[in-house]
Amino acid sequence: MTCDATRSLLTDYVKDELTRPESDNVASHLKICEACRTQEAEIRENFGLLRLAIGPTPAPAPAVWDRINDAVDDLEAAPARVSAWVWRTFAAAAAFLIAASAFSLFGPSDPASTVPVARLERVGEGVAVYRASGGGREAMKPGASLAMGETLTLDPGAAAVFAIDGVGRFRVAGGTTLRMADSRTIELHSGEVIAEIKPSARGFRIVGPQARAVVLGTLFRVCAAGGRTALTVASGAVTFANGEGSIEVHAGYQSTAAAGAAPAAPLELAADAADWDLFASLAPAPLVRLELAAATPGKPVPFTLVLTSDAPTLVESAISERTYVILTLEDPAGARRLVRLSASDLAASCDLPARNGLVSIDRQNRLVLKGQIPALDAPGSWTASALFASGGREESWAGYAESAVEKLEVKR
Ligand SMILES: [Zn+2]
Repeated sequence: MTCDATRSLLTDYVKDELTRPESDNVASHLKICEACRTQEAEIRENFGLLRLAIGPTPAPAPAVWDRINDAVDDLEAAPARVSAWVWRTFAAAAAFLIAASAFSLFGPSDPASTVPVARLERVGEGVAVYRASGGGREAMKPGASLAMGETLTLDPGAAAVFAIDGVGRFRVAGGTTLRMADSRTIELHSGEVIAEIKPSARGFRIVGPQARAVVLGTLFRVCAAGGRTALTVASGAVTFANGEGSIEVHAGYQSTAAAGAAPAAPLELAADAADWDLFASLAPAPLVRLELAAATPGKPVPFTLVLTSDAPTLVESAISERTYVILTLEDPAGARRLVRLSASDLAASCDLPARNGLVSIDRQNRLVLKGQIPALDAPGSWTASALFASGGREESWAGYAESAVEKLEVKR
């Protein structure tokens, strides 16, 4: 089997959707081809995260639906609905967000002009959004406008929504730096932008360090971090291109681009009938820290999950049917296992005052969850990471937040 033939089947291979003979052919090629194995590992990584994110998901409470629907009704243009899968794929994309680095592909910046391009609509409470032009840096409030050539920077944990007349709305995540190159181009230096573009704004571009996304009329998300530019399309289609190649990414697909390589073939994301509005919640995602106790084979490993936030974020004070934790464990041989923990497996300890079952966490006020990793069978070096997911309730935060990957040495 050739590399090309193998690669055309790799996604289905990973999804276990090939016939037995096809699957055997791919497996035997992978045994002898390191390049294809690397590609397989990358697809598995993406799918592992996606599957993990897509698994049984808590449904948002009716009040959250109302809030989402209100937000959608507020949109000027025909409301573009966002499927739940887009929201969930953010867990996958979070993997790319971990090591947001600075990029220098854009060359010298043009001097900022005074022509207003974008208008800041909303800013998350208690968090800072800055604009920079020339040497200055100035905090921005809702209503402020951003001129051509100016740079927008968000503190970690911040969130903001801005609009460009005739183009659409953009939700910007904490830690993002972007520049208004002109009224038709945003340069995304690092971080994450969700764009909701009017049909008339065909040709609008978000240029990431490794690739550019050109709008064909759509709702999509661009994320630049960890040496990759990732594109997820919720509706419509986007051309994703760099010097190495160009592909069209349609609704329900995701592609990534690394430096020196054409954008990867789009991966299909699981469809879901439910609608979410990406603009609904501006609270920053909790920061999740996983602390592990020492481990011996055959014994469960106690762990602690500490949830904090860069700005006040409402989360449920106990694990409910709308929240859960997924552990990703990798054994010394590199095999991955997902463990889903729910209310009966986890104890929340929290001395914060709960209002209606919700607590507000921030840098000081934290929610601590305690549980056990099921017995580990093999001695050696394991890794573990935790994903905290919440379907949200009333005004609480909804989404996914992941911990860093922690090493776990299992002693004989
Ligand atoms: Zn090959």
